[in-house]
Amino acid sequence: MEAAMASQNQITNLFEVSMIADALGVPVEFRPRDSYHVSDMTGHGTYDQPVGSWSDDSSLTLCLAETLTEGGGPTQLMQKFTAYLDGDYTPHGIRFDIGIGTSEAISRFNTGHVPATEAGSRLANANGNGALMRIAPLAFALDGQNWRDRRQRITDFTTVTHGHERSIIASCLYVETLRQLLAGQALAEALKQASQLVHQGDFRAEEFAYFDRVLNPDFFATPRDQIRSSGYVIDSLEAAVWCAANAASVQDLILTAANLGEDTDTIAQIAACLYAAGHLDEQAPAQWRKALIQTKQSRRIITDFAQKFGEQ
Ligand SMILES: [Mg+2]
Repeated sequence: MEAAMASQNQITNLFEVSMIADALGVPVEFRPRDSYHVSDMTGHGTYDQPVGSWSDDSSLTLCLAETLTEGGGPTQLMQKFTAYLDGDYTPHGIRFDIGIGTSEAISRFNTGHVPATEAGSRLANANGNGALMRIAPLAFALDGQNWRDRRQRITDFTTVTHGHERSIIASCLYVETLRQLLAGQALAEALKQASQLVHQGDFRAEEFAYFDRVLNPDFFATPRDQIRSSGYVIDSLEAAVWCAANAASVQDLILTAANLGEDTDTIAQIAACLYAAGHLDEQAPAQWRKALIQTKQSRRIITDFAQKFGEQ
């Protein structure tokens, strides 16, 4: 496959779309499906944050983007996650959201002095979407590496917070799908190519079985009531793929995801990365772009990342 490539503007746009998706989901996170309806970017709600506030999904993604720009590895990433706990990489200097798996891994790294790549729990019940929500920037930073090396890199950046094989497979599938989308493949083909690659990854067959549904060619046509939107990595990946597959526009994608209920911000953010990687020039609605909070730090991280990994 050709190298994953996008222009600096396209990379900046992908970050913007994904942060807007996160911000739209934030006020309704954890709400049951169809107990509310999102039709615009609003504030307050679950965390009582001002309109345009993004959460851990975007903050931890910014941490990874900065790490990759600086040529750092898992240890540097965990140091940035630690700073995030104290409010760095946030829209208002206050951290209001973090997943349990991520939080526990950061404390194992800092207090338990566990190496970064071993900090994530390896338990099967610790397969939340916390690695998936922040790993998209890696899709831009794996050029020129063979699959074996990419698999190792994706694994190392996953296991800092999520050490179980199911989370590693999910990250590999997601990042490789993003790479295929960036190379111009349609979503169905991108998933197929990514799946073929990941199947050569020495993962256990019984773990692959969890991905059968999302990789089934008929999955895109699944009725909404059979799409789960919890924070379990399989549910979140399925919901995000389903949203991206059926969206008519960025706006439609984000609203569909934000209205699924439960882990709205993360599912919207993952779905937005998948959609934006396949629609690089499509911007979010102007009023949402205007409402999105951007900090000096977030602008700098995204600009530097786009400069390093974007086409001239
Ligand atoms: Mg969040």
